[in-house]
Amino acid sequence: MPNGLNAVILWLIEWRPGKLNMNERIDKIDAKIHAFLTTENVPDAVKTDSTKPLAGKTMGVKGVLSMAGKPSWASSKVLENYMPVYSATVVKKLVEAGAIIAGQTNCDSFAEGASTENSGFGPTRNPWDLSRVPGGSSGGSAAAVVAGEVDFALGTDTGGSIRQPASFCNVVGLKNTYGRCSRYGLMAMGSSFDTPGAFTKSVADMAKVLQVIAGYDPLDATSSKATVPDYSAVLGKGVEGVKIGLPKEYFGDGVSPEVKAAVLAASKELEKQGANLAEVSLPKTELALAVYYILVPSEISSNMGRYTETRFGNSRDLFEAEVKRRIMIGTYALSSGYYDAYYNQALKVRTLIIEDFKKAFASVDLLLGPVSPTTAFKIGEKAADPLSMYLADVLTCPSNVAGVPAISIPAGFDKNNLPIGLQLIAPHFREDLLLQVASTYEKVTDWHNRKPEIK
Ligand code: GLN
Repeated sequence: MPNGLNAVILWLIEWRPGKLNMNERIDKIDAKIHAFLTTENVPDAVKTDSTKPLAGKTMGVKGVLSMAGKPSWASSKVLENYMPVYSATVVKKLVEAGAIIAGQTNCDSFAEGASTENSGFGPTRNPWDLSRVPGGSSGGSAAAVVAGEVDFALGTDTGGSIRQPASFCNVVGLKNTYGRCSRYGLMAMGSSFDTPGAFTKSVADMAKVLQVIAGYDPLDATSSKATVPDYSAVLGKGVEGVKIGLPKEYFGDGVSPEVKAAVLAASKELEKQGANLAEVSLPKTELALAVYYILVPSEISSNMGRYTETRFGNSRDLFEAEVKRRIMIGTYALSSGYYDAYYNQALKVRTLIIEDFKKAFASVDLLLGPVSPTTAFKIGEKAADPLSMYLADVLTCPSNVAGVPAISIPAGFDKNNLPIGLQLIAPHFREDLLLQVASTYEKVTDWHNRKPEIK
């Protein structure tokens, strides 16, 4: 079809009577869920070059990713009214690929949390049940996608902040290999853990977004020069002969029976499609959370030093409680006298956890387990108890400690009609394998098509 005719048809579809434009849609839905802190005024007839891979796709951007000249506040009062002068590389690449910025999404301040309740601007609500959290820290991004406010959204995953909200909201969420996508312009939390990535409505959309954001960036010395494969090319390949390991530590007592049942059912479905299942062990799993909560606050205590009043205009007194807590934990762990006992020791255990994954990947191609031990919890349920909140990360943070990629895909619902996510974990730089297996599962199930009725 000639491009001109194509454009006219698209225009007619876009303008059929009664259809809300993006801003109206966001205003209407966001009055209930509060996924966005600020939105951009997107003109009704945005001109997009249809040859671009993401032409006209609207995207929410987690507030910790810098957007030149647009409010990017990391959901912290310390950065309220801040507008970066440059864009994060991932944002810049997506805009160049035709995507349209809808606004900054809500998150736990500076991405520190697992429920979006640590935001300095109030929580986001889970579109499946407004009395519950959407997960975190990228809760606004996940909620915005499942509620249909945007086509896709960006998040960051330092210990689970893409996968856990994806699983709580029923969208696809991919934590990329550390170094696969540039961190330039990502407001650092734990610099040796942070990974930018996306939330999408399907695995095929994820392949398209990753294709744009993956790759080396001279502005980020930790970004990798490893070649970027064609992610969409693997989608129809199936799982015949793929060896999938179920780490026994991921199915322990802390995991709710309904989550366990849904995840095991998903593994059986993949077996039916031709995959071979095996039980494996990641014996250091229980240490990963302790390692994470020593190393990440240590890095946070250093990274938060830059937010001085002289530079950003707002007082450090405005740091939210969880940020202050982590600055204190990190400063303590790094102080002379405790450095060896905590920080150094945690670094050594980090190496053992990396070994755990290497050993497992010597016998299987990828790992499968739950994303989160439970489905979405109530707003306020864990907010007063930081330790119980930290436990929400027990199955996601090991892959950040090791730097390996992992995806969350829709895999069922519990008796309260709350989504359950399936986690697949692959060796470094094997996002292609994650997408291949995830797309096979998505093709034979319809969980991802279910949408919340927001009431
Ligand atoms: N919930 C984890 C934490 O609080 C993960 C945060 C993240 O991935 N940004 O640290």
